[in-house]
Amino acid sequence: MTIFSKIIAGEIPCYKIAEDEKFFAFLDINPVQWGHTLVVPKKETDYIFDIEDKDIADMMIFAKKVAEGIKKAIPCRKVGMAVLGLEVPHAHIHLIPLTNEGDMDFKHKVEDPTPEKMAETAAAIAAMI
Ligand code: 5GP
Repeated sequence: MTIFSKIIAGEIPCYKIAEDEKFFAFLDINPVQWGHTLVVPKKETDYIFDIEDKDIADMMIFAKKVAEGIKKAIPCRKVGMAVLGLEVPHAHIHLIPLTNEGDMDFKHKVEDPTPEKMAETAAAIAAMI
């Protein structure tokens, strides 16, 4: 069971944004920007491009809804999307609010993401979905 499956199962806490029957969205614990969100399929697959066509299409539609919520809740020009998957072997899409090109830099981290501010951020996004 991956760490993301444990989060989806409620065994590990997270700052939840949204879920449906196939997908789950929650804040990245180590955000690159405020509102940095992960979209994860409930079915475990390591590599995103091993996901079946219908499921990856549905994942994109779910991510789009979440991105629209992020765009409404977090001041930014656009919401960017990235797939790395180098750390956690459970496919996921990173959604990151962007104002400048450098805002997608994964070496940059939000300073002091307190539990209060993370909970507030997740609630603000969730309210827009
Ligand atoms: P990647 O696999 O895309 O290279 O990176 C995994 C991402 O998942 C990282 O941005 C990391 O901060 C995030 N992450 C790793 N473990 C946890 C966790 O337990 N909870 C949450 N919310 N995010 C995590």
